[in-house]
Amino acid sequence: MKVYLDNGATTKVDPKVAKAMLIYLTEKYGNASSLYSLGQESKKALESSRKIIANELNALPEEIVFTGSGTEADNIAILGIVFANKDKNHIISSKIEHPAVLQALKHLEDVGYKVTYLDVDKDGFISLKDLESSITDKTLLVTIMHANNEIGTIQDIKAIGDICKKHNIYFHTDAIQSFTKTPIDVKKINIDLISLSSHKIHGPKGVGALFIKKATKINNIIYGGGQESNLRSGTENIPSIIGFAEAVKIDKKLNHIKQLRDYFIKQVLKIPHTKLNGSKDKRLVNNANISFAYIEGESLLMHLDNNGIAVSTGSACSSHSLEPSHVLKAINLPNEYMNGTIRFTFSRFNTKKEIDYSISKLKKIVSDLRKISPLKGVKNV
Ligand SMILES: *Cc1c(COP(=O)(O)O)cnc(C)c1O
Repeated sequence: MKVYLDNGATTKVDPKVAKAMLIYLTEKYGNASSLYSLGQESKKALESSRKIIANELNALPEEIVFTGSGTEADNIAILGIVFANKDKNHIISSKIEHPAVLQALKHLEDVGYKVTYLDVDKDGFISLKDLESSITDKTLLVTIMHANNEIGTIQDIKAIGDICKKHNIYFHTDAIQSFTKTPIDVKKINIDLISLSSHKIHGPKGVGALFIKKATKINNIIYGGGQESNLRSGTENIPSIIGFAEAVKIDKKLNHIKQLRDYFIKQVLKIPHTKLNGSKDKRLVNNANISFAYIEGESLLMHLDNNGIAVSTGSACSSHSLEPSHVLKAINLPNEYMNGTIRFTFSRFNTKKEIDYSISKLKKIVSDLRKISPLKGVKNV
């Protein structure tokens, strides 16, 4: 049996999405900037897709800019705000952000900006008190993710937005994991910028979007033909943009996902010396991040793979390194759990049968690995 439980890394393109895209690859391939009808058809498709993304956030279509990825949306948001507002040089973020945010911030530190990285508690929440006390008269931007990609914890972006508004500071959130899973209404929260990505919601890879509240002072970081309100020059990727919008429209089956996820967690936590990381209730509907003490996450991953089950250790973005994840470090996970942590992320394509299969394989593999584990204390587990 093949079971894909790594939907936090990427998702299968929904067949309906692929179907909607195809005609824009083969027949309606015009450049949206061209004046003849083939081009204008692409332009129309672009604008109707923009409306769909905007509606999902209760935003205006002109507040949505399509980008080449979620990473690019994060970079345009952070660097664009910084370059347009040179009178301030301090940014506040958290220790558990995605590399697309952390690395952009590191670059800014290299060129002289000051960045405060807020600590998180054991469930992955920032402290609103810490946030407020970190603000100085030089603070320009707060960038704190909505839902964490590793442990699934969902921050209170309404409360963060209120603090930013009170101090007249821009607020950006990376909502790439939460988009279409946890609603965001930009009319109800004070937020200036939101990053989105298509391939985490059954759309194609290589397309994202950035919500930018009307009248926000932002500069472009990419130079060229001036597409996307001059914020993302480059010929618009119409097939992928169409696919992204189609992915927003299709049934999310969140109840189905949550049922499978909750059942999975309940069964797996029956294995001795296991621990669920992240918040119990304020967590992404499709995320289960579980530590198996006295086990190497990598060997667990390989054994699951041999049984057709795809999962990840920590996050996909850092899976090329064997360093413990910066997120698990930030939540102060005890050492014996740190290396044996696996992220299981579900989708609406998963079935109960797949989950039962995965649970039974997991039980067997964990028990076998612990029998041969050279780690201290294993005799008692
Ligand atoms: C996947 C992801 C990104 C990067 O998006 P890409 O479209 O892959 O560039 C950024 N932030 C978070 C939280 C993510 O999960």
